[in-house]
Parts: sequence; structure tokens; C-alpha cells
Amino acid sequence: MALTKQQIVAWLQRCGEVFQQQRDFLTGLDTEIGDGDHGLNMHRGFSKVVEKLPSFADKDIGFILKNTGMTLLSSVGGASGPLFGSFFIRAAQSTASLESLELPELYRMIKDGVDGVTARGKAEPGDKTMCDVWRPVVAALERAQGEGDTLAAALDHALAEARRGVEETVGMQARKGRASYLGERSIGHQDPGATSVMLMVEALAATVHQ
Ligand code: ADP
Ligand code: MG
Ligand code: MG
Repeated sequence: MALTKQQIVAWLQRCGEVFQQQRDFLTGLDTEIGDGDHGLNMHRGFSKVVEKLPSFADKDIGFILKNTGMTLLSSVGGASGPLFGSFFIRAAQSTASLESLELPELYRMIKDGVDGVTARGKAEPGDKTMCDVWRPVVAALERAQGEGDTLAAALDHALAEARRGVEETVGMQARKGRASYLGERSIGHQDPGATSVMLMVEALAATVHQ
């Protein structure tokens, strides 16, 4: 079963709802180790995406992802705006002109997006950033692809890894972004950006299971 363009659109709409519901929770996480705006940032960005979606929802997947990225880039700001913007803009490259994605294409889309985030943010594994969730997600999708899993099963594995990745950020000391200013005091707190990535993967899995 392939992921259709309509499901990509439904995923982005679901992200809009999720970041509305989780706004205060994410902002609370960022209050502990940052400047307390992460939930506001994600909510503002995905509200804009949802608002603009009708103007490009009938285009190909690459176009939809690229416009999502540009919208996030121009509306989110902070560290996470350019990073999530890069994710979607890079994810758009291999999906230009596609109307649906089989697992290998979804894997490539997410892998390219994460490569974009890494190129931009230069976070290493264990730096307590969103990359500590993105990386295990990519690895899970690659493994699932190798084992010939269905797309739905692959996303379930990816979500399990994303949840594990978020948990692991708790024990890490931040080495990138504002949280790094806290040094050892950043240990013991869940990373907000990593949590947002997990929520996006959760929304994608939920869309596929619907
Ligand atoms: P800001 O820190 O500018 O207020 P946000 O609060 O919206 O931006 O986002 C903070 C999140 O951004 C962090 O929780 C972390 O996951 C992520 N982040 C910060 N710097 C980097 C980086 N260099 N690479 C990857 N992710 C990063
Ligand atoms: Mg912040
Ligand atoms: Mg900020």
C-alpha cells in the first residue's frame, strides 16, 4: 500500500492539530532548557502551513513539501524554523512530480530531509537535538525496507524508535542550540525539538492507519 498525496496533505493537517494540542506542553519543555517558545513556534508554523495548503494541495508531493518547507522557514524563526524548513525543502527533491510513495520513496524522502537538517545544524549523535530522533527514524525505515515490510509496519517501527529516541534525550547533555548554554544542567530534561519530530512521525503513522 502506497502513501498517497492525499495522505501527505492529511498528515500536514494532522500536524497542524497536534501542534495546537501540544503547544503548551512543548513550550513547557523549552521553558526548562531553552527560552520557552518551541510550542509557540511549531504551532505558528503549522497553522500557516494548514492555512496555505488549499492553494497547493492539488500539486505533486514535491511541490507540497517544498511549499510546506518555505512556509515553515518564513514563519517559524529561531533554531527550529530553518531546520524544519530544510527538512521539507530537501524532502521535496526526490518527490518532485510524484503522486504517491512506496516505502523506498518514503525512506528516500525522509533520509534526504534529515540530511538537510544535519547539513544545516551540524548536530552530532548524542548532542540532545531533534537529530537524536530523526536518525533512528531513518535507520528504522532503512531496516524495514531491507526486510520488505509494508509501509504501515515500517512507520510503526519508526515511531517506536522515535519514542525511544525522545526518551534518550533526557539523559543527554545539550551540545547544540540554546540548551547547550546550560551545560550539565541540561541533563534530565526531554528535548523539545526531538519531541516535535516524534509527534510528526506519530501523526504520519496515524494517518496511514486511518
Ligand atoms: P530556539 O532555540 O531558537 O528558541 P526552538 O525553541 O523552536 O528554537 O527549537 C529548539 C530545538 O531546536 C531544540 O530542542 C533542538 O531539538 C533543536 N535544535 C537546536 N539547535 C539544533 C541544531 N544545531 N541541530 C539540530 N537541532 C537543533
Ligand atoms: Mg526556544
Ligand atoms: Mg527562541
